[in-house]
Amino acid sequence: MTSPKASSTSTWTAACALGGMVFAAAWLGIWGRPIGFLSAIWPANALLLGLLLHKPEWVRPGSAVGVAIGYISADLITGSRPEVAVLLSLANMAGVGAAWALMHKQAGATLFMQRQSSALLLFIGAGLGALTSAAIGGPVLTASFNTPPLQAFSMWFGGEWLNYMIFLPMILGWPTRKLRGPASDQLHPLLRAMPVLAVIALELISYWLGGPGALAFSLPALLWCALSYRIFTLTVITAALCLSKMAAISLGEFDFTPAHFLETVSFRMGLSMLVLGPLAVAGSHMARTELMRQLRHAVNHDFLTDMLARGAFLKQGQRILERCRHDHQSVAIFMLDLDHFKQVNDRYGHAGGDQLLRSFSHTLTQVLRGQDIVGRMGGEEFAVVLPHVDSKTALEIAERINQATRELRVPSGDKIITATVSIGLVHIAKPGEHQDLGMLLQHADQALYDAKAAGRDRVEARLW
Ligand code: GH3
Ligand code: MG
Ligand code: MG
Repeated sequence: MTSPKASSTSTWTAACALGGMVFAAAWLGIWGRPIGFLSAIWPANALLLGLLLHKPEWVRPGSAVGVAIGYISADLITGSRPEVAVLLSLANMAGVGAAWALMHKQAGATLFMQRQSSALLLFIGAGLGALTSAAIGGPVLTASFNTPPLQAFSMWFGGEWLNYMIFLPMILGWPTRKLRGPASDQLHPLLRAMPVLAVIALELISYWLGGPGALAFSLPALLWCALSYRIFTLTVITAALCLSKMAAISLGEFDFTPAHFLETVSFRMGLSMLVLGPLAVAGSHMARTELMRQLRHAVNHDFLTDMLARGAFLKQGQRILERCRHDHQSVAIFMLDLDHFKQVNDRYGHAGGDQLLRSFSHTLTQVLRGQDIVGRMGGEEFAVVLPHVDSKTALEIAERINQATRELRVPSGDKIITATVSIGLVHIAKPGEHQDLGMLLQHADQALYDAKAAGRDRVEARLW
């Protein structure tokens, strides 16, 4: 529960932050109107929409007031008539509202540019926002400035859509969570820079050659970027590309003036479409990478306990053993087996047994160190490889596992399951060529057998 004070404070925070941001962005847009290409830049709506999608808790009446004040005051200080300022702000807010209504219910991964459908959602949401605000703003422009209706509507619509396509992906793709990027992270910096250098090269060629095809020249390099970089990096590249194209074209080939309005609309729409392709490819690539990661995890881990599956444990354990041998470092192997586990199943049912297995696995990871690996070898049998550990510490860790297991209390219905574990330990001060993991596990298993025979709930060690 939030206290009334905290909630009123955050209402203020949201209203001021959104209002201030809108004011600054709208002022930038209005201030740029007389300066050639800048007239087409209107980041306020995309920023507002992106922020509200990131922070749905900021969508409240107080924020709407703050935002309205932001839009209207930016218009007023740059010389607009009050009634025009109010109506234009209404158009902007209605567009953002329509896009928000369509987009905010989507799953986080889809919304924040991580999925195949992300680019489509962006495209449609931005289109709806642009359509809504142009439907209101167009007639306002016609009434106030005598702009012909079709021109007012289409210029607003095309410009707004492009602005969404430039700024919104960056805000939605903002790296708020720690995400794995494509594998190119390990490459040499120059190789990593190749895709963006290719974009720059193709852009330069397109300016040199010119003509109607020039808009699409950089597409292959953008697709390369989509497969090589994190989504946020890509959105920065596409935004920079759009802005530089707008600047270059408005300075060179045509002005954003009424006489050229259809050309301008066509150019803006084309640029929006150009951006869409790489974003769609990146989202699709991202979704596939994530799926592969999940698949790899599922193959390498036991479904019930999330410990390493037998095969993955043997592979990783062998690698650790070889590294210890190479570094002349000691290593320890544990085999662990829960005591009288059959009785647990008999008494508490299979589900109770499963719950104990999960809790015991959790206990193991708590007691062990970050560099140790645990595998579920089958049923209620686990194995551990501990690199760089002396025999005394290995024994202490094993005894701590005994103790923690004894203290385990696992609720099962109205009953509490308790457990003990027997551990066979092998410690090798200097691993030799003839010792592979399979053989060491066999020795640990024999030690485990001795621990069972000696009365269970204990460690039996073989120190070499
Ligand atoms: P000991 O102290 O000698 O180890 O006795 P124990 O009863 O633990 O030994 P045993 O190996 O004979 O029994 C293991 C039981 O574990 C038998 C099997 O039904 C049960 N088991 C194997 N896999 C699972 C599982 O995934 N979930 C559950 N709940 N039980 C399992
Ligand atoms: Mg057992
Ligand atoms: Mg067993």
